Amino acid sequence: MSSPKEIRNYKFRIYPNKEQESKLTNWLTTCRIIYNSALADRKNYYERTGNGLTRIAQQETLKADKAKHPQVKEVHSQVAQEVLFRVERAYNNFFRRVQAGEKPGYPRYKGPGQYKSLTFTQFGDGLGASFQNDKLKLSKIGLVKIDLHREIHGQVKICTIKREQSGKWYAVLAVEEYPVLFSPNWQTIGLDVGIKEFAVLSNGEKIANPKHLQKSERKLKTLQRSLSRKKKGSKNRAKARNKLARQHEKIRHQRKDFHHKISDQLVWRYGKIVVEDLQITNMVQNHKLAKSISDAGWGEFISMLTYKAESAGRMVEKIPPYGTTQQCSRCGSIVKKDLSVRIHACPHCGLVLDRDHNAAINILHKSKAS
Ligand SMILES: [Zn+2]
Repeated sequence: MSSPKEIRNYKFRIYPNKEQESKLTNWLTTCRIIYNSALADRKNYYERTGNGLTRIAQQETLKADKAKHPQVKEVHSQVAQEVLFRVERAYNNFFRRVQAGEKPGYPRYKGPGQYKSLTFTQFGDGLGASFQNDKLKLSKIGLVKIDLHREIHGQVKICTIKREQSGKWYAVLAVEEYPVLFSPNWQTIGLDVGIKEFAVLSNGEKIANPKHLQKSERKLKTLQRSLSRKKKGSKNRAKARNKLARQHEKIRHQRKDFHHKISDQLVWRYGKIVVEDLQITNMVQNHKLAKSISDAGWGEFISMLTYKAESAGRMVEKIPPYGTTQQCSRCGSIVKKDLSVRIHACPHCGLVLDRDHNAAINILHKSKAS
């Protein structure tokens, strides 16, 4: 049986020069207008005829607009046409929800600044987007400096250029991955969310949050405090809010990179990784712990780990999260402890262990042997 090909997104910072940046910004504006008018056309047509307008019909309109409006002609044709796919998707989602008996709002028009990305639907030599030496070549834009901080394993299919709120530009490359040949591995490991660490393995290994991420999180707290002290409606408050948004974005990137790194390593090393299924508890009784889990993006990490494991012929098993902290991993006695207690010390069998390490062993034990 051949496995389906995996598409993975790789995100890289790009550095367009002034001229390129102004072109890209113009394209965003034009694409936003194409989007809004295509949406309006669909709406009008439906109200007039009771029928839906197809994307093919809209392509004809786009062609005509190209002849009439020079700014539409400026935009690379793939990029302009891709806008119509987005409209189609928004519309199809809308109708699916109507048919399901929901009352969705009509697909929204995009205001200034709300259209944030441009998609080249073909990637490769001589196509809309490609690599040239170590630069990203975008047709009609030129060679753009790109920070390729990770290796790409596979073939790039689609390239989306994105401007984030911070004003930084990124290229998101959809990559069809080559199958990686993993050696057979039946070793099973338990993995627990750490309170102090990011995670703890059942072999006692601790995975710490990287220092730069911890530093960014401390800075985030400072920025949050500073925002709350600024007067409502003031310029300084707006500035502080902007700074805070940028910091959030930075942390998102740092965390995602970290998750990629750790999940790659785990999938490489283990045949089966056992974790708690945190969705089935009502998000862990203790609010404080629940918060620290969501902060650490645990759910996102687990889904990343799961798809990587699956595409490598490995496995992630989710077990019910009951009692893993309180139970003694050696004798099975219940040893009650609240969150502040860092050590599992069993009065029955004498086992003394880091609490998260004890939990990770319990998680491993709960795995269905297979
Ligand atoms: Zn014990």
